[in-house]
Amino acid sequence: MFKCSLHNIVLATILSITSLIVKAQKVKEPKTTAEWTRPYQPFRIAGNLYYVGTYDLACYFITTPQGNILINTGLAASATQIKNNIETLGFKFNDTKILLTTQAHYDHMGAMAAIKKATGAQLMVDEKEADVLATGGSSDYALGQYGTSFKPVKADRLLHGGDTILLGNMQLVMLHHPGHTKGSCSFLFTVKDDQRSYKVLIANMPSIVTDKAFAAIPTYPAIAGDYAYTLNAMKNISFDIWLASHASQFKLHDKHQPGDAYNPAAFKDQQGYDDAISDLQRQYDEKMQQLPAVK
Ligand SMILES: [Zn+2]
Repeated sequence: MFKCSLHNIVLATILSITSLIVKAQKVKEPKTTAEWTRPYQPFRIAGNLYYVGTYDLACYFITTPQGNILINTGLAASATQIKNNIETLGFKFNDTKILLTTQAHYDHMGAMAAIKKATGAQLMVDEKEADVLATGGSSDYALGQYGTSFKPVKADRLLHGGDTILLGNMQLVMLHHPGHTKGSCSFLFTVKDDQRSYKVLIANMPSIVTDKAFAAIPTYPAIAGDYAYTLNAMKNISFDIWLASHASQFKLHDKHQPGDAYNPAAFKDQQGYDDAISDLQRQYDEKMQQLPAVK
């Protein structure tokens, strides 16, 4: 018995030390740029789809009669900007019912835990992202080197490629586009105004994050195949409007100026999308030539 209780005491001590260590892990955002934090005037993109992000960190807001959907949350400090942007557009922040993300990096997940707590909305993520969400980014194959870079948060629903997200009259299809992170994804859906409907693609562009050769990433052995899959899949998506995780990726600031009149046509840019995908394909092909560093 003594042995057993001593064992329990040791175990309890280890557990409490571990929980102290976990609690002590402070969230530290690795780097932010002026473009990421600069406030930006929210606007109506097309039908019931709005831009509510910062100057570069794209966050999208989709309204329905049964509540609203927010995609991406920027940095931790973006929470107030996003809330203000939603209210500026005339909507209630607390009517946000579903939270989504295009990728579990701190520049899209920073305010997720806080917004989830404030609104009580359901967070739905690509199943391959669940682990990185729970560790606040520290288990990410590349950005994990920075430790906990956003507040850990638990998903309410895990999504698989091709799954549908339903709310009110809206139906979003999640497209699994791994590589940038293991569970990066894009969303495809239709919005309507009084003139017509638009098929919208919010794309997570598969840019390369790591400096290492793909063969030198033991925590993500499928990385090369995942990028190849994603690049190929993205060449075959048809859409009317193209948007992305960063404003700079789809050249928002060339297409729209604050105060511009409603103009969904500004975001029809098949050529821009095709060029961006070919450019990423080129970067991938070059990356595949990189050899692991000799130790
Ligand atoms: Zn990223």
